[in-house]
Amino acid sequence: MRLEAKTVLITAAGQGIGHGSALACAREGARVIATDIDAALLAALAEKAPGIETHVLDVRDDTAITALAAALPALDGLFNCAGYVHNGTVLGCDEAAWDFSFDLNVKSIYRMTRAFLPGMLEKMNRDGTSASILNMASMASSIKGFPNRFAYGATKAAVIGMTKAIAADYVKQGLRCNALCPGTVDTPSLRQRIAASPDPVQAEKDFIARQPMGRLAEVADITPQVVYLLSDESRFVSGQAVLVDGGVTI
Ligand code: NAD
Repeated sequence: MRLEAKTVLITAAGQGIGHGSALACAREGARVIATDIDAALLAALAEKAPGIETHVLDVRDDTAITALAAALPALDGLFNCAGYVHNGTVLGCDEAAWDFSFDLNVKSIYRMTRAFLPGMLEKMNRDGTSASILNMASMASSIKGFPNRFAYGATKAAVIGMTKAIAADYVKQGLRCNALCPGTVDTPSLRQRIAASPDPVQAEKDFIARQPMGRLAEVADITPQVVYLLSDESRFVSGQAVLVDGGVTI
């Protein structure tokens, strides 16, 4: 199995891409530690896949992150998946919205990495293994511009910059760090965004229209890339913003 003997922690694993990734990593033999702010979603995941260990974790809570890192064994893989889509232009983004987006989408990754990286480095050094950090960015507005993704695009571009900095700092110690940049994926939060728009039918058509393959991504279109980037198969890949976007950026 592709993640045999690997311990992998995933944030925002309660639904969407994080949830699918937790199941995919477990299928490939990883010990999966699934975290999310929502206890009910985690309980449903644990019922579906009893081998997956779950912990309620708010990635904006540094004290909780530090406590969890101290309680868990060292990781081989960390997938920082948590993130939020702010809808609006620069004029529609007040300071509170900007700060919230940066706190959840960017600073959370800084917090998680500072808490879990020392254990990952120590384990690699001790056991001669390699380790991987995967950070959730996006195709939307960090790679290709889209309307009403001002704060979102800025945060996801920051994730890519942070990823490259971490990759450069630890490449000689065997740690890889990459950013994942999906196109539009059919997840519960995307459905919420469609439902909240003034014309939901048209909003869904618009999302699909920007996908040259003529459909939204399913979570299962994204998770093989997550498994690959967390596994040793990607041992020569670091510092990359990896696009899985259905051809939007061809
Ligand atoms: P989602 O937005 O449907 O679910 C997000 C999950 O995050 C929920 O389970 C929620 O409980 C959890 N969460 C919210 N706040 C949290 C916090 N403070 N701490 C921990 N968990 C928290 O899932 P999704 O659409 O798959 O998005 C996941 C990631 O993928 C995000 O970073 C998003 O920006 C990114 N992304 C999504 C798409 C897409 O089209 N869906 C495309 C590109 C990138």
